[in-house]
Amino acid sequence: MSHKYSIIWLQGLTCNGNSHSFLNYTHMPSFAASFDMLYHPLWCGAEDFMSLLNSDVTFDFLILEGALSHDERLIQRFNLPFYEILDTLAARAKYIICAGSCASFGGVFRLRDPEKITGALFSGKEKGGYWLEKNNIINISGCPVHPRWLVETLVALHHGEKVLLDEFLRPKEVFSYLAHHGCLRNEYFEWKVDSKQLGEREGCLFYEHGCLGPMSHANCNKILWNDISSKTRAGSPCLGCTEFDFPRRALYETQKNMSLPQTPFGISKRAYYSLAGVAKSFKIERLEKKLIDEND
Ligand code: SF4
Repeated sequence: MSHKYSIIWLQGLTCNGNSHSFLNYTHMPSFAASFDMLYHPLWCGAEDFMSLLNSDVTFDFLILEGALSHDERLIQRFNLPFYEILDTLAARAKYIICAGSCASFGGVFRLRDPEKITGALFSGKEKGGYWLEKNNIINISGCPVHPRWLVETLVALHHGEKVLLDEFLRPKEVFSYLAHHGCLRNEYFEWKVDSKQLGEREGCLFYEHGCLGPMSHANCNKILWNDISSKTRAGSPCLGCTEFDFPRRALYETQKNMSLPQTPFGISKRAYYSLAGVAKSFKIERLEKKLIDEND
């Protein structure tokens, strides 16, 4: 297929984080040659927008960044209620891509008013966001969205490939994995060796620092960010930003019940706590030491 993909990018309630993430895509210079950005609020003006809105142009992807609200006092663009703009353009798009957790589930903005502020199709876990029914929506959650998740989904759809989706309409290719997969701290997790403080190379961040890697669907420890690093590689916990309940409160604390942490997905409490108890009873000297001892 030779023609370029056409994209209109709209922003609801947002911090711009997904736009910045997209623009930081490592291979953007070559990828940019394959799409036409008909409109993006960060680099197009009102005139461009109004002429598009008033035309009958059809296009491939409506990318939505940010949460939505039916309350027009919360979002207006060019003196028009945002939902009017959204409905007009959505009817002309082949696919609607929700980039980031706010567009997918309501995200941080939903905390302010869970009754009114939602994602495009979901409000948190429940279906019933801005649109009750629409069958051409794909959610790519994350705070922000990883640029590769977005780009690879666009490329696959453009080439007519089938993109399999999970129960939250997220591409399975990305969201079948957990952030825990590929984390360099897995051995510490297995032997229950805690990280003593944020930023250090050693230890697992699950027990004291609130890491949600074993409960968060994303492949970011597999493909990394900017091909270089990830939160847990840098010594900061996974905050579960791809999940419908992001952001949880007390992000850097491990939620515990009777001093026991949550169990990872798909493992019974009894099995997990028994195994954890056995593992913790061993002291693996190698894992208790600094990886790089500056005094050696
Ligand atoms: S730091 Fe988080 S992602 Fe890494 S092994 Fe521990 S729990 Fe898993």
